Amino acid sequence: MIENVPSFLDLDGAAKTAFFSGWHELLEILADFDNASPDSEEDEKKQYYSACSNELQSILVLAAQACEIALKARICKVSPYLLLIGSRNSLSTKSGTIDFSGLRTVDAVDLVGTVNTVTAKPVSDAFSNRFSELRKLRNKAMHLGQGNEQADPNEMFDLFEDLYVDLWPQSSFLQDWKAFLEGTRRSYFHDYKWSSPEMEIAEVLRTFYHKTNKSRYSSLFHVDKKQPRFTCLDCYFDGAIENTSIPIEEFQTAVLESRNRLLCFLCGGVSEVEEHECVDDVCSGKLVSGNSANYPGLCQTCGYPQI
Ligand SMILES: [Zn+2]
Ligand SMILES: [Zn+2]
Repeated sequence: MIENVPSFLDLDGAAKTAFFSGWHELLEILADFDNASPDSEEDEKKQYYSACSNELQSILVLAAQACEIALKARICKVSPYLLLIGSRNSLSTKSGTIDFSGLRTVDAVDLVGTVNTVTAKPVSDAFSNRFSELRKLRNKAMHLGQGNEQADPNEMFDLFEDLYVDLWPQSSFLQDWKAFLEGTRRSYFHDYKWSSPEMEIAEVLRTFYHKTNKSRYSSLFHVDKKQPRFTCLDCYFDGAIENTSIPIEEFQTAVLESRNRLLCFLCGGVSEVEEHECVDDVCSGKLVSGNSANYPGLCQTCGYPQI
């Protein structure tokens, strides 16, 4: 009998952890340079990217790993035993238990074929090509110790966003990102005063919005990039963003779901809002939090009290 059979949730969670480990580090690489040298020349950027090549290689390995585990999760959802298809595991006539982790599972090269054969939702050709390219890069980095010298973090940024949409089309990107941060070693320091998962995202949010093109933005959030964003006051205050030097206008994670309801992509919360021009002359905000909100009577753009 086989023991410790994996579940879909275990594998899917592990895939997201690998994905966001790579993603968050990639964002830090991009944001560090944007923040330190906003007006840099192309040459300086290239030098910086070249200094990041070891980290970029590790991030590519994480992307490949995330894809492999996410595909295994899909197979596992049908039956975990399908993960043993085609692997030469020797069957024993003796009684006793075998740990699942000791068995060979389907090879990475056969994962797309297995998913497309045993599940109702085949993966797209575009994903299949991206995955096959990633595996080659991963193998190069892991087995031959050769880095991909030309790895461009901007291309990797687009790749990660495409992979997320391929792998988790129904999931909430910012909520998954935050959930990952809540499970890292840094979560030990999250006191929601001087450190929080919201702060970690806030530090790279400007770079994320700036680099995400219109089409990927709408694939990730299911809204047009032109739709105005507002500050979710719950995330802003609960995540103690006010204790950072990040301006409130740069921490906008919510959109209008209807005329008087705001939906936040980061916490998934919905709150009541009213249409009012902000009393602060320098702010162009036109929405104020409603009476039923946790932080009522504040501008949803600048946070200023409306009295
Ligand atoms: Zn929120
Ligand atoms: Zn305002």
